Amino acid sequence: MLKRVVIVAVLLGVGSLGLEAQGGRGRGGQGGAAQKVTAIRAGRLIDTDTGTAAVNQIILVQGEMITDVGPNVAIPAGAEIIDLSRLTVLPGFVDTHTHEAMTYKEIPENNTYYYTYITDPTPLRAIQAASNALQLLSSGFTVVCDVGNNGLYADTALRQAIEQGWIPGPTIIPSGLIIGTTGGQFTPSPEMYKYHNIVYPEYLEANSRDEIVKAVRENLLFGAKVIKICLDCKPWGYSVDDIKLFIAEAALGGAKVNAHVQTRDGAQRAIDAGLHVISHGQQITPEQHAQMAAKGIYLASTDTPFTGYRGSAEGQKHAADQLKSAYDKGVPVTFSTDMDYWNEKMKNEKGDWLNRGDLTIAFLQTWKAAGIPAKDILKALTINGYKAADVYKDQRGPIKAGYFADIVGIQGDPLADIDALRNVQFVMKNGAVFKKNGVITIDGLLHPGPVNGFRRR
Ligand SMILES: [Zn+2]
Repeated sequence: MLKRVVIVAVLLGVGSLGLEAQGGRGRGGQGGAAQKVTAIRAGRLIDTDTGTAAVNQIILVQGEMITDVGPNVAIPAGAEIIDLSRLTVLPGFVDTHTHEAMTYKEIPENNTYYYTYITDPTPLRAIQAASNALQLLSSGFTVVCDVGNNGLYADTALRQAIEQGWIPGPTIIPSGLIIGTTGGQFTPSPEMYKYHNIVYPEYLEANSRDEIVKAVRENLLFGAKVIKICLDCKPWGYSVDDIKLFIAEAALGGAKVNAHVQTRDGAQRAIDAGLHVISHGQQITPEQHAQMAAKGIYLASTDTPFTGYRGSAEGQKHAADQLKSAYDKGVPVTFSTDMDYWNEKMKNEKGDWLNRGDLTIAFLQTWKAAGIPAKDILKALTINGYKAADVYKDQRGPIKAGYFADIVGIQGDPLADIDALRNVQFVMKNGAVFKKNGVITIDGLLHPGPVNGFRRR
């Protein structure tokens, strides 16, 4: 009994301290020491907003932040100099739709994630997510929208571990559980549904206005930074008024709403309600794309390429045609993948395994098939991504003074050949070097405690 009282007291203490420091910014694992100054010499620096490049630039980084950028920046005495004069430097990439704690497989589950959910416990999935986060960062992804199907909050735990400084990783924008009407995306048997509550926690059901409010608040409480809804996964999906309620309730917690949309009617309701991000949307008409553009609704169309390990020629053509229509109508398109599967064919021509980052950036193939110019692919992968992920307002994204130092270096010129993005040589995240000369340098980035502060979420 005494033990229980002590534990409760400790928990209360931690809770109240946590409240005091919400929103505090950490120090990138550098403890109380003076903030390190780094000067990066960039041979070519790309402004992905305008699609232009400048040569021989200097980027000054202090602690986690960029403090100056330009051709004639004075380098302070004692600053560490990183020479990327032979590389092209650009801001970090965004995947606006993935699932880091979900990996369904051919064997044993025949690519059916319903079975993955039954066989892989959340702690295992959380460890998979930590590995995937490292692989994504290695390929230059510094912001990742992790939109559900992550077990019981493996995604918010991943964000917390990275923010607190246990492991390096991208900035994770987790949704927590996907909120849907009865069944979510599952079609379970009555016995599994009624007597084993099988839908939860892969989905959080909300069928009425009261349940919608409760579900959104529960996700926010457990660390969600975006609210993901299954808008039309069932014929009894959400109405325009329901979607507006999601948007209003999410806004109270500072979050936007991203919806899985698979039908034309569902897309119309999402557009009418003024959703922030439509995911998938493979049935959206050109007329609806024009409406999305007028309202500034972001598209995360998860454009699966046809490769030796996944997809079909018809599937890629349909995805490319849809992407082209959205782009032509002026929709703010983003780079998104739904990359949440694995099979034994995922190897390169030398026979080495492709990692989650390689597999993610490979989605460029559909963008090329859509005929979208390289400068606009770069914008989708960065600027549009920061806005869809809603991190721009937190000073995260472009390489500008006052923004977090999330910086990528590659060989070649992606404005001439977009596939240059597949060969990331250098990655800096929050001012800390994660990859150099093509090799991950994890020394100094793993910690036995929450060095950035246990309050960071
Ligand atoms: Zn998805």
